[in-house]
Amino acid sequence: MPSNVYTCNGCRKTLAFDDYPPVGDLSRGFTCPECSKLAKEIAAEMDARLLQCGKDGEITMDRYAHKLTPTQLSIKYGCTEEQALHSVELCMGYITGEKRKDISYDEWVRRQN
Ligand SMILES: [Zn+2]
Repeated sequence: MPSNVYTCNGCRKTLAFDDYPPVGDLSRGFTCPECSKLAKEIAAEMDARLLQCGKDGEITMDRYAHKLTPTQLSIKYGCTEEQALHSVELCMGYITGEKRKDISYDEWVRRQN
């Protein structure tokens, strides 16, 4: 493969640098502008959904974005490790899926029991 061609991590398309410059952190591989735009949109949507989850959203952010261990989470939030992980589990259940849930996080949590 010539050096002026890259494979997009997202859609696996092979593209030439010249007419389709890659975006993002190149040390982690190449992403085409289309996939990069999509990733940003998904990230923004996830952030918005996390905000709907209140404290559980914060715990989930700390777990995945800031890579806190269950022990660190339990200390920070003054709960047991199990409780912290349960919060993450609930929050992930709420924020994942193609569409936003049409009920509040609290209501959704109530219905899980
Ligand atoms: Zn792509």
